[in-house]
Amino acid sequence: MNEPEDPSRERLKHHFAQRVIHQARQILEIWQRLHRSEWSAANLAELSEANLRLQRFAERFEQPKHVMLARGISAALQGVEDNHGRLTSDSINELNRLMHRLSRTGLRHGDQLDQTHLPPLRKPVYVALQDAERAGRLATQLEFFGLNAQALDSVSTFQASMLERQPSAIVMDVDFGGVGMGLSLAAQAQEGREQKLPLLFFSRHETDTPTRLAAVRAGGEEFLSGTLEASSLLEKIEVLTCSAHYEPFRVLVIDDSRAQAMHTERLLNSAGIVTRSLTDPIQAMAELADFQPDLIILDMYMPGCTGTELAKVIRHNDRYVSVPIIYLSAEDDLDKQLDAMSEGGDDFLTKPIRSRHLITTVRNRAARARNLKARMVRDSLTGLYNHTHILQLLEDCSFRARREGKPLCFAMLDIDYFKQVNDSHGHPMGDRVIKSLSLFLKQRLRKTDFIGRYGGEEFAIVMPDTDLEAAQQVLDEIRERFADIHYPAQPRDFNCTFSAGVAQLDAGFDGVNMASRADAALYRAKAAGRNRVQLSL
Ligand code: GH3
Ligand code: MG
Ligand code: MG
Repeated sequence: MNEPEDPSRERLKHHFAQRVIHQARQILEIWQRLHRSEWSAANLAELSEANLRLQRFAERFEQPKHVMLARGISAALQGVEDNHGRLTSDSINELNRLMHRLSRTGLRHGDQLDQTHLPPLRKPVYVALQDAERAGRLATQLEFFGLNAQALDSVSTFQASMLERQPSAIVMDVDFGGVGMGLSLAAQAQEGREQKLPLLFFSRHETDTPTRLAAVRAGGEEFLSGTLEASSLLEKIEVLTCSAHYEPFRVLVIDDSRAQAMHTERLLNSAGIVTRSLTDPIQAMAELADFQPDLIILDMYMPGCTGTELAKVIRHNDRYVSVPIIYLSAEDDLDKQLDAMSEGGDDFLTKPIRSRHLITTVRNRAARARNLKARMVRDSLTGLYNHTHILQLLEDCSFRARREGKPLCFAMLDIDYFKQVNDSHGHPMGDRVIKSLSLFLKQRLRKTDFIGRYGGEEFAIVMPDTDLEAAQQVLDEIRERFADIHYPAQPRDFNCTFSAGVAQLDAGFDGVNMASRADAALYRAKAAGRNRVQLSL
């Protein structure tokens, strides 16, 4: 017969398990902070330390899953350290993967369902409105979009929640807890924080300039008034929290001197910039396609071809027209420098260069290029990739999938009877439905999936490392949840559904083939009655 468990021992075990989970959260918070700032030696050390603590706790309190994850993280961090603190895409991916798993360990049993499709960490959004019922409704709607939202109904719950867990954002009614009280409450919450929390103020009534000023001073980044709608709120929150994975800049160094290339690489790596170098300029185009750098650093004089010649070749390809090219050379003849710049270069830096100068130049140029590229490849209504770009991504991904022997799926979605939405409720309402589906997809799909607006009310999704079965499962769940969203309208609210067609990459075929098979499957889904996901088998 088994000994009955001693209840006080059970309690103690539970208490210790909580300690481990608390420690895991701290690691995730450091990790999330990294997403917003820069990778530095200090961050790395802090992460290592917190992780060691987790490992010790987990070992002592016998939490095997946490022990395993902590060891994995420790090994990955050790790898970065052994690499002289240099990050590689692989090490970041590995850490992302481990953090994702860690973020799932502290959940209650029922919560675990579909966490695999969510980004690694979902800190709650606190919603503090004067009208508690409205706050509750809003929180529920935000959860529909895959956000973790929590309605708080009193000043004391707000304060207690703030102590318990840092939110990803706060939505604060200026009159929460009394006229004008929300302002001071939020200001208090921000006090002494090095990194301010994303804060959105809301007022039911039109407000005057002094109130808005007070909101700005309290650290509010947005001010909303009138009706508070989940989809527009979500859009704002998304901008403020940018829940995307930490994605360091990628720089390709082309220099025939290995020593010089390594030196540049080391400098950039120390600033958290992922770098690859190439000593043979002839390999440049293949390397560009594979690495997709944000910026290129080019030597002026190389055997085989000169830097300016290579810059011209790179510029000939439409895809790399906007990638900044910086010359790094000992050439100090200003005329020659200017000539080089007029041949497709963006900047000219002379060796030897101060590391701070190089790093700042690279960062600024790369950031601006990313920004510009985002505008070139994105659709303005939804912020999703446009038609041309999603097809380009499909090509890139099928190339990669074939090389790595991994599955790849492509899905096409089309909203059902959308014309009726426009006809009955007007074009602006139609636009809102399109926007809300796009947000819904962004929130519910993995960060590694690519989402595009294919045209009008049609969307396309590239799903790397996904087979048909997994794709169907994800899309069916999204389809069901999307159908649950109610759009407010007269005489009554309405909802929308979509149909989808999915194709998987076949050996010997390319992206174009997948796109046409997904399209055919979508057509069959429509013909079979709509509101369904059809696979191309
Ligand atoms: P089905 O279920 O067969 O897809 O029917 P449907 O009505 O959705 O399909 P159809 O292609 O006939 O109509 C699509 C409509 O979408 C026609 C067009 O006016 C509308 N539309 C296209 N782009 C936009 C847009 O950007 N905004 C809005 N509001 N409507 C758009
Ligand atoms: Mg349609
Ligand atoms: Mg259509």
